[in-house]
Amino acid sequence: MSVTPQTNTTLPDLAAALIERDDFVICGHVSPDGDCIGSQLGLMHALRSLGKRAVCLLAKDEPIDVRLAFLPGADELAPAASYAGPAATFVAVDVPMRDRMNSAAARLLDACDFSVTIDHHAFDERMSDLAYVDPDTAATTMLVWELAGLMGAERGPELATCCYTGLVTDTGRFQYQNTDAAALAAGAAMVEAGADPAAVARHIFQNRSLPSVRLEALAVERMRFGAGGAYALSWVERADFEATGAVKADAEPIIDALRSLRGVRVACMLRDQGDSVRGSFRAKDGTDVAALARTMGGGGHKAAAGFTLSGSVDAAVERVGALLDDALKTGEREA
Ligand code: 5GP
Ligand code: MN
Repeated sequence: MSVTPQTNTTLPDLAAALIERDDFVICGHVSPDGDCIGSQLGLMHALRSLGKRAVCLLAKDEPIDVRLAFLPGADELAPAASYAGPAATFVAVDVPMRDRMNSAAARLLDACDFSVTIDHHAFDERMSDLAYVDPDTAATTMLVWELAGLMGAERGPELATCCYTGLVTDTGRFQYQNTDAAALAAGAAMVEAGADPAAVARHIFQNRSLPSVRLEALAVERMRFGAGGAYALSWVERADFEATGAVKADAEPIIDALRSLRGVRVACMLRDQGDSVRGSFRAKDGTDVAALARTMGGGGHKAAAGFTLSGSVDAAVERVGALLDDALKTGEREA
């Protein structure tokens, strides 16, 4: 499968197209992260500052990570399935394909007059009328920030806070491979416009629930290594959630414990969802984990990707372990 970006316009042309319109529905992906929610709410604030109507919808009717609830406008997020208003212009942010949006959001995409995608995931699916996709951009919120400037929107503290949050989460606090001069410059501009880095960090990184840390302890305990310690693989089971009182979002930070280990080049976390298993990959070297994820029907970025497997967690551990054994024994070894 090819993964050429689906771009068919420029950011200035996209800005010009949005300015002509008045009613917007802004949607992201299922299990929305900081970049997804930050992009949705940031674009909403930008459009509203221009006198437009904009609503942000959740692809799936699921609670958002409570650590993101501080974002201005987060209390307005509503499920796409219960939305009854006009979907005049549908904007998909941080999501490159229908599969990652859920059927309720995809129905709105089909029903709208005009559709737009703003994203940084390379994926070969043209799902909207206009798409601007830049895989070299660290976070979708950087594109929203730039777009807001091009539209002449107010770039105040609310927009800046939403955009900075997406940037700091997608770059892992400015430490992943996608952190470059452009990301740092955008972060500086957002801070100048009123984003408070320490406050955002307190909400996102210094705000874990006790069940999340207890869940991590279980995952660390059962960690497996392979390819001479080049990968770490672990998982959380349904029973772990019951035992610790953790919710789905509590599992998100665990992969950082695996990747933080000396010698580990690729980390993988699996989460039992009952009838399926959700997987996440992170690479610290040049390993293309998006390519690994695609072999299992998933995708993402070169250094951060995800997938879903049907079946048991035991079967998933075996399958992913074999895949990583193979990839890291035979793959390139970049430091
Ligand atoms: P995470 O591990 O945090 O769920 O996802 C890491 C990255 O991979 C994110 O950029 C996310 O959008 C992408 N990703 C995760 N799961 C999938 C998937 O099933 N399909 C695709 N195409 N991308 C995914
Ligand atoms: Mn993103």
